[in-house]
Amino acid sequence: MTVHLVGAGPGDADLLSVRAVRLLARADVVVHDRLIEPEVLALVKRGAEVIDVGKVPGGSESQPIINDLLIALGRSHECVVRLKGGDPFVFGRGGEEMMALRTAGVDCDVVPGITSAFSGPLAAGIPVTHRAVARGVTVVTGHTFDDDDDYFRRIAHRELTLVILMGVSHRAAIAKQLIEGGIAIDTPVAVIESAWTRRQRVTRATIDELGALDVANPAIIVVGATAAMDLREVLSEAAAVS
Ligand code: SAH
Repeated sequence: MTVHLVGAGPGDADLLSVRAVRLLARADVVVHDRLIEPEVLALVKRGAEVIDVGKVPGGSESQPIINDLLIALGRSHECVVRLKGGDPFVFGRGGEEMMALRTAGVDCDVVPGITSAFSGPLAAGIPVTHRAVARGVTVVTGHTFDDDDDYFRRIAHRELTLVILMGVSHRAAIAKQLIEGGIAIDTPVAVIESAWTRRQRVTRATIDELGALDVANPAIIVVGATAAMDLREVLSEAAAVS
């Protein structure tokens, strides 16, 4: 009786881990959220119960309901998969679900997934670190943006790539704070919508243009010198070889 928190990667079913595929073929119940592609759900064992908790109304208030559901399923089924987009421990509330399960005495393990924080930029040919261009990368959420808090002013850093998840709705205010924090107005920006799906779209601009861009969720925003890079031709050659 185990609940497996499984990372589904950014979208493309080929980017699941072998362990994730094996668990989907074995699970009695699969509980998934919104950003899971049909190609991934197609790997679930025939006859298994599939529950979409992405549709539970109320946003974050629904988390206790999801926790209770996982606890109940973990007590009544041999193999439960909790399928989460990207990596379960990157802004997926996977940590909270694991703590709730452990506290309730339900066995639980985690299968890492390919996070959109790194694979989203890569889909646009952007390396999040690159020798002599970016010495590191910061991954943050824009979801908790608050005008009264100067968080983005404080983390503005010219030598690092900044990757923002859930940043689309606050993009104008985030850009404003980053510029106030010392990021040059001509700093490159890339927005990758629905990376690794058929709907993928890449938009390039500069930080002062970010607020006016016509972009929608789910998207990754990349800020910094690496955002101007595009190594996609190299990537497609590598894919052709494999
Ligand atoms: N655990 C996930 C992130 C969950 S938060 C991970 O590791 O990727 C949800 C946010 O992730 C979205 O709002 C968006 O910013 C980003 N995201 C997830 N999948 C994406 C995709 N395929 N393309 C672009 N952004 C994506």
